[in-house]
Amino acid sequence: MSETTVDAFEAKRNEIKASKPKPYEKKEITYDKKNYVNTKLEDNELEKEFQLRIIPLTNDSDDIFEEVYFHWDNKAQKSLVCPKRTKHVPDGTNKECPYCDVEEGFWAEYRVEKDETRKKSYMASANEHKAQPSSVFRTIQRENGISDGPKFWKVSEAVVDDVESAKNQNKKANINIFDLKTGKDLFVKFKKEEKKQKNGKTKLQTKYASLYADLAQTPALEDEKLLNEWVSDEKKWYNVFTLKSYEFMEIVLNGGEPWFHKPLDKWIDKKDLKAIQEEAERKVEEQAEEQTEDTGESEYDNEAEETTTVGSTTPQEEDDLPF
Ligand SMILES: [Zn+2]
Repeated sequence: MSETTVDAFEAKRNEIKASKPKPYEKKEITYDKKNYVNTKLEDNELEKEFQLRIIPLTNDSDDIFEEVYFHWDNKAQKSLVCPKRTKHVPDGTNKECPYCDVEEGFWAEYRVEKDETRKKSYMASANEHKAQPSSVFRTIQRENGISDGPKFWKVSEAVVDDVESAKNQNKKANINIFDLKTGKDLFVKFKKEEKKQKNGKTKLQTKYASLYADLAQTPALEDEKLLNEWVSDEKKWYNVFTLKSYEFMEIVLNGGEPWFHKPLDKWIDKKDLKAIQEEAERKVEEQAEEQTEDTGESEYDNEAEETTTVGSTTPQEEDDLPF
C-alpha cells in the first residue's frame, strides 16, 4: 500500500488546476497601445496615410487574417468580442454570449408579434445586439520610418476587399505582397468625414478611405533577426482584443461596471461590492459564533480568514479596446 502524503494531495490539486480551461479574461498581457495599429488623426489633420506591412497572423500558422465578431455596446461605449459567432477562439473558451442571447430573445418576440410598430421595435433591438464581423491582421507599422513591434489591426470588410485587390493585382506580376522578404508595404488612407448625429449636429468621424500596395518590393524589416523575433512573437489576436467571460459581458450588457473580485475569483458588478462585503462580514460573525459553540469545527478557520479579505480587489485594468 502506498503512503498517503501531503505531496500527493498537492500534486492532485495542481493537476486539477492545470487541467481547467484558461480564463482568458484574466489576461496575461495587459493593455498596451503599442499592440494596436495607430490610425488616429490629429485634430488639425483631415486625412492621413499610414504605412503598414502585413505579416502572418501568428508564429505557428500561415494565416494572414482572422474574422472576429464584435458586439458594440453603445451605452458602455465598449466593443466586445463575440465568442459565439467568432469561429476560431482558443480551446476551452465558453462559446455562450449574453449579447447573442438577448438578440435571439428579441427575434423570438419579433416572430410572434402581430403589431407592426412593435415588430419594428423588436427588430431594431435585435439588430442593436447583433455581433458584426471585423477582420484582424497583424502588421508592422512604419511611423516616420520607425517600427516598434508587431501590431494588430482591426478592420472592416472594405479594407479586406482592398487588400485582396492589391494582392490580386500583384499576383498577376508574380509578386506575393505578403512575402516577408520580397513583399510590399501598404499605404492606407484615412480621412475625416462629417457625420450627422441624432441631435441634428454634425461631427467629424475618421473613416477608412483607400489603400494601395507600394511599387517597390522590400523586406518587411531590414534586420532579419529582429523580423524573425517579431514574427515569432507569441501575442495572439485574442490577447490584444481579449475575450471576456460570459459574466463580464453580462455585467456590461446590464449597464454595470465589471470588477474582478479576487477572493471570490470572479467578476462582479462594482455596485454590488458593498453588499458582497457586508454579506461576507455577516458570515464571518456567524462562523465566529458557531466556533465558540463548538471548537471542534476547525474547518471554518480557513474560510473565516478568506472572507475577512473579501473587500480587497485587484486594481481594475484599463479597458483594452481603444475603439
Ligand atoms: Zn455574441
